[in-house]
Amino acid sequence: MRRLLFLLVLIGLTGLPHQINAGDRIRADLNGDGAVNFADYVLFVKDFGRTDGLPYDPNSPGDTITVTVTLTVRDTIRIGPNVTPPSITVIPSAGIQPTSDLYSHFESVRDVFCKYLDYVADSNILVEFSQSKGPAIFYERSSRGEYRIRLHKPGIFYGGGFVLHGLVLQFAHEYGHILSNYRDDSPYSQQEWFEESIANLASIFAMREIKDVWVKDYLANPSQEKEAQLRQFQTMGVEANFMIRRGREYLGGKPLGSWYIENRHQLETEPVKSLSSRDRQEAVSVALLGIFETYPEDAWDAVRYMNRGHISKNRDFLEYLQEWYRRTPPQWQYIVVEIMSRFGFRM
Ligand SMILES: [Zn+2]
Repeated sequence: MRRLLFLLVLIGLTGLPHQINAGDRIRADLNGDGAVNFADYVLFVKDFGRTDGLPYDPNSPGDTITVTVTLTVRDTIRIGPNVTPPSITVIPSAGIQPTSDLYSHFESVRDVFCKYLDYVADSNILVEFSQSKGPAIFYERSSRGEYRIRLHKPGIFYGGGFVLHGLVLQFAHEYGHILSNYRDDSPYSQQEWFEESIANLASIFAMREIKDVWVKDYLANPSQEKEAQLRQFQTMGVEANFMIRRGREYLGGKPLGSWYIENRHQLETEPVKSLSSRDRQEAVSVALLGIFETYPEDAWDAVRYMNRGHISKNRDFLEYLQEWYRRTPPQWQYIVVEIMSRFGFRM
């Protein structure tokens, strides 16, 4: 990650919080296009103060302030030296033979997350298909310690290939469970909905990222072969955006905190695979997506510290989050704090 330390005089920055503290991270509209978007930057506030040296007053708009920041350039995120991505093996099943196309779909999902993780020391993954059963990740590993993922055999599209976004959606969901250290929490599984929400978020996140990477690649180097897949990748973006719209509908325009208070009982008591529970998980994942898309290099690292404590701490959601915070290394704790604040909790 390239970090440049420099001094900026920032006036009227988009997204500048009313109260700034050293250590805050803010996003800024540096290219002046009126929106904070992916081309912009993450700023880490080192120090700040009024340019004229007088005391800083957050309630006094119009003051010129000088902020010393670290600028993280999003485009140059490196894959850490300790990253060894897990290998993926597709088992011939339900009439599906492993093809290079299949492998490339799964590996692109894996790489979306590995790109942002500082350390990936994880087990390898076995993938099998079923015609009749839904997607799942098994608690029991293979005899060689591999994760076992089952995917529902996807539909065939008119060109004879598999529906790509369906595969990516399913695989990314199960990969989200791996990242969050899925485990059998019974009888303390009251907060399982949260892990399911993160897994759902992983699907939306991966589909949007893969579509962006692929479209960029196509535009830089167009070919007839790639063009044939263009529709599939566009469909993936459409599907992700559809999930986002649906999640927003379930939220009903409410902030996550008040929505959570209204839905807490159902979240903790309904079976996580029920349809109404799935809808609620979608609402949660859409409400949290912005954190993951703004700080992907920290958010997915923070997720690696979920579900590592004693399962008895899962009984109460606040306690679950507090325990997660305590286990998370300091540089990623702000992600947990941000998630807590969205739910209306304070550390
Ligand atoms: Zn799941």
